[in-house]
Amino acid sequence: MAYDGPLTTDLGDGIVQIRLPMTGNPMRYINAYLLEDRDGWTLVDCGWKDDEVLDALHTGLAEVGRALSDVRRLLITHVHFDHYGLAGTLMRAGVPVLAMHPRDWETAQYHLRDPGAFDREADAWIARNGFVLEGEMVDELQHHRTELTRPTDLLEDGAEVGRLRAMWTPGHTPGHLCFFDRISGKLLTGDHVLDPVTPHVGIWLERRGDALGDYERSLDRVIACKANGALPAHGEPFADAAGRAVELLAHHRHRERQIVDALERGALSATDVARALPWRRRGDPFDQLEPMHRQFAVAETLAHLEHLRAQGIVARDAAVAPIRYALVEAAQRV
Ligand SMILES: [Zn+2]
Ligand SMILES: [Zn+2]
Repeated sequence: MAYDGPLTTDLGDGIVQIRLPMTGNPMRYINAYLLEDRDGWTLVDCGWKDDEVLDALHTGLAEVGRALSDVRRLLITHVHFDHYGLAGTLMRAGVPVLAMHPRDWETAQYHLRDPGAFDREADAWIARNGFVLEGEMVDELQHHRTELTRPTDLLEDGAEVGRLRAMWTPGHTPGHLCFFDRISGKLLTGDHVLDPVTPHVGIWLERRGDALGDYERSLDRVIACKANGALPAHGEPFADAAGRAVELLAHHRHRERQIVDALERGALSATDVARALPWRRRGDPFDQLEPMHRQFAVAETLAHLEHLRAQGIVARDAAVAPIRYALVEAAQRV
């Protein structure tokens, strides 16, 4: 499943899309974007840590007459391994600046200082929610394809870096950033807004809070920023960032109604709620998903349940095993 399409596309306005391979992953490639600025080139996202990705980046830069030494800074939309994994390699090769949102730097430290501790906490949480673990769930390859690399700069919401303005869009990760390009009016959307893929929003740790509420508020920000086009991290650029954000909001409303319907039958664990829902665009039954996808499905269902809980529509009983969620009677809602 190696990616063999075009490597680079000149998008005009001094923006180049470089497709970096994600061999073995259904996404096929991740887009790194190279943007020309007065003091050199900015690279947004960099692929995972692998020689094949590094080679593709060198080749892509050469295709547009550039080299890694022309890259003045690397900005990271979020610290998932396919966006951040190669950062350490690039810093050692001389890229002087690495920047990300402080919340994702925290996330990276927790995930990568002791990957085993994070995996154990996530597995224990999902097990408390009724999911029977079958052997090793976490994709071990992730740990080999990334490394903890300290940023030189942390970008808060609204930070300006050359032609780009950072927009904090938590949800997919706590510190996800989109970047608004003031020259083209386009929005680099990272994994926050993709098309046709629905970005994953899940609760992998109990203390994650209302990730879906964050995500939906971040979609509202995309709608409000009136971008001229979307430059997503996966798939191809598309014209209507706001329109796609509206579709994603509608998708989550539809999902929420399905979950409320499932809970009409009584209190259920998150796993039993997930079992009552159709999955993927084909509407596959939960039990036909591969084990790792089932775990993702439970994490996504938990994001919905916790969002409903934050709105006072659902209550959680964490004193029972597994944890159960139930509808709050309309009369009792505050
Ligand atoms: Zn991601
Ligand atoms: Zn990604």
